[in-house]
Amino acid sequence: MSLKTRFLSLAAGLIIVAACASWLAYRELSADLIERWGRQVAEIQVRYDSARLLQSLEREIGLARQMADSTALINWATAPENETLKTNAIYEMESFRTNFRDNSYFVALRDSGRYYFNNEKDEFAGQQFRYVLDPEKPDDAWFYQLIEEGRDFHLNVNPDTELGVTKLWIDVLMRDADKRIVGMVGTGMNLDTFLQDIVDINQEGITTLFVDYNGAIQLYRDRNYIDFASVVKPEGQKNTVDLLFEAPEDKQKILGMLQLLKKNAGEAGHVESGFVTVEGREHLAGVAFLPAIGWFEITLLDLNTLLPQSYLWPLVAVFIASLLVTLIVFHLIIQSRIVKPIVGLEAAVEKVRSGSFILPRLDKPDNEIGRLVDHFEKMTVSLRDSTRELENKVAQRTDELHELARVDPLTGLKNRRGLDEALDNEIQRAERSGNGFGVVWLDIDHFKSFNDQLGHQAGDEILCRVALWLKACLRSYDHPGRWGGDEFVILLSPCDPATLEHIAKRIRANVEQESCKTGTPVTVSVGGYFSKPGDDMGKILRNSDQALYRAKSEGRNRVCINSPEHTEVSSV
Ligand code: GH3
Ligand code: MG
Repeated sequence: MSLKTRFLSLAAGLIIVAACASWLAYRELSADLIERWGRQVAEIQVRYDSARLLQSLEREIGLARQMADSTALINWATAPENETLKTNAIYEMESFRTNFRDNSYFVALRDSGRYYFNNEKDEFAGQQFRYVLDPEKPDDAWFYQLIEEGRDFHLNVNPDTELGVTKLWIDVLMRDADKRIVGMVGTGMNLDTFLQDIVDINQEGITTLFVDYNGAIQLYRDRNYIDFASVVKPEGQKNTVDLLFEAPEDKQKILGMLQLLKKNAGEAGHVESGFVTVEGREHLAGVAFLPAIGWFEITLLDLNTLLPQSYLWPLVAVFIASLLVTLIVFHLIIQSRIVKPIVGLEAAVEKVRSGSFILPRLDKPDNEIGRLVDHFEKMTVSLRDSTRELENKVAQRTDELHELARVDPLTGLKNRRGLDEALDNEIQRAERSGNGFGVVWLDIDHFKSFNDQLGHQAGDEILCRVALWLKACLRSYDHPGRWGGDEFVILLSPCDPATLEHIAKRIRANVEQESCKTGTPVTVSVGGYFSKPGDDMGKILRNSDQALYRAKSEGRNRVCINSPEHTEVSSV
């Protein structure tokens, strides 16, 4: 796997891990955030809903209390048969009627059970006495129950079958100076209007309901759940708030909250909250106790409606986009700062390994890799220089060896190999130019005897001297060489037969003459051959050798030229 792939896989892996961790953290955080926010909203909403209810009720309750305290009514309640008192009382009732919100009232007298009522249409003017309450009738049980309980104030949602209305009734006990209950007064508000105004407000995702002290539902948008005439129902038959929830733990939770609030009833404005499921959707329930009316107010917030998760999707999109950008930026940085320089360096190393020192332009980022590339470049330059120096030296040595291999170490003339090459060159040149060249082959006469008499060392010296005398007779461009032993070969080029003969003779004479000066006279026998273009090496050597042979056989110290047109043996 390449470095780039590794880096990218590693980065992608890390980013995926980070993304998963962030996603989990995001979910936790968003849930926590929504919960915190929801609780605050629930508290605010509960207070707001409570305030709305109390605002509309407080005035009515106050009026009902005033009515219960009315002397005219109390006096009449203690003496209901007194017509004057009754007239005064009716007058008083009617004045209250015009003040009540629904322009209706009721007055029920304890002893007689007589029930008085009038409504906003003043429908029962002069006939406010409607009927007599009967302790045996279930519909009238509420009256006797409240008196038995002795609760001075009570809110009751109840259909009045006699009157044919369902109302939210405000019931206040009327007591005489001895605190004896003499009757009950109050007003009723149209339940539908009330529900519309206070409970079933068109706020999407928010459900408001009111339950009484025992948890019985009193005000709720769905009338089927309302626990009508709750006060007279025995425990267990009431429509309590837990009916709204399916899960047993939710029922427990909501009832638990009611219990807790009852305990802390002294703490004004205290709100309990918790998550519950209603109709399959998770809601945040906020519950508050309303001491003024002895009810609980419950607000259910559908958080998915109020704050859908989709609101947070742009956040997720931004997060994913930023992860992708991070990956791309990481890739680009790794690519330019690490991978590209390393790939370039690898190619350069491969080039140097294969013997090329010409490097392409390498990336040098400002980091360890850049410094490594820099070191490598410098190393390559010094390697190139030392290699070139070494190569030059080798070439020089090779040339020297080449030369040495073609030089006779004793005389410094060409050796046999050198002569072979020179002869080869001359043969080719002759063929190219069409001009022949001269070959002189000479051998020292009786050389063996010098060795024998004077020693091998002296023999070497004679060989060296002969070489010098030879050179002295030649032109700078002639090629003298030692063929081996006491034999020498000289190539004369350019040459013609006359020059060949002339130089051959001069050589022989010079050797003889010069050697006399040394006190050791030396003579040489010389064979000459003028080679024509087209002669091969064998022919040339054979002819030269034959000429020498003739010179030897004819008495030595002479020159013999072997040439078809010019064959002459000359001697001194
Ligand atoms: P000839 O007149 O017939 O040539 O008689 P020669 O004695 O010269 O006979 P030849 O040419 O056959 O003898 C060559 C001698 O040269 C034989 C050998 O001992 C001697 N010799 C060969 N190479 C060297 C050398 O490098 N140094 C010395 N000192 N003697 C050598
Ligand atoms: Mg000899």
